[in-house]
Amino acid sequence: MSNKYLIVIVEDEYNISSFVSAVLQANGFDTMVAHNGAEAIILITSHCPDLVLLDLGLPDMDGQGIIENVRGWSNVPIIVVSARTRERDKVKALESGADDYITKPFGTSELLARIRTALRHVQLREGEQAQRQTGVFHTGDLEVDYDKRRVYVNGEDAHLTQNEYKIVALLSKYSGRVLTYDSIIKHIWGPNAKQGNQILRVNMANIRRKIEPSTAEPRYIMTEMGVGYRMAEGED
Ligand code: CA
Repeated sequence: MSNKYLIVIVEDEYNISSFVSAVLQANGFDTMVAHNGAEAIILITSHCPDLVLLDLGLPDMDGQGIIENVRGWSNVPIIVVSARTRERDKVKALESGADDYITKPFGTSELLARIRTALRHVQLREGEQAQRQTGVFHTGDLEVDYDKRRVYVNGEDAHLTQNEYKIVALLSKYSGRVLTYDSIIKHIWGPNAKQGNQILRVNMANIRRKIEPSTAEPRYIMTEMGVGYRMAEGED
């Protein structure tokens, strides 16, 4: 038995699937490839992989259907890898339960970084299931102190409001992953929130003014245009 992570690659273009498979194997992962949706569901149910890379445009079914099917019974991380660049496709995939989204063409270092982030979040989920959000999150000169409920930049209190703090804390908890506007709004303002994205944009503008060295080129909280926000990876 190998104790490497097993990644199922769902991709109907053979040149892409063999390339991705080779890259992942060279980086210490085991891989299996499915070239259509039916094969994908069989592989995922029978092998319980550690992660799924999912193309949305498949010959026999839409990848969106695979996300919905798999999410019915499994929390395996799913990273959508798709040529579809429309924002609503990304949002739909993320809201159906995909963990992340990469647009083709992509760089291999980006792909590997996203895979490692998704796997790390599974470990966090499993290892600290019941643990409260305590301690400190660091990235660059930014520090989120979950006990004091404060955010510091270069050791100085950024004086965030309650909601600004909650947004930063939420994004830091999922650092490296994109969270959709809707999921952030629901989390901060409640499941029945009537707020549109505007209130989030206003909060984000204020947050950035307080924590980013340059609001024009955010270093800590990146915008995924039309989709959501992504906090930079945490550092130990
Ligand atoms: Ca395809």
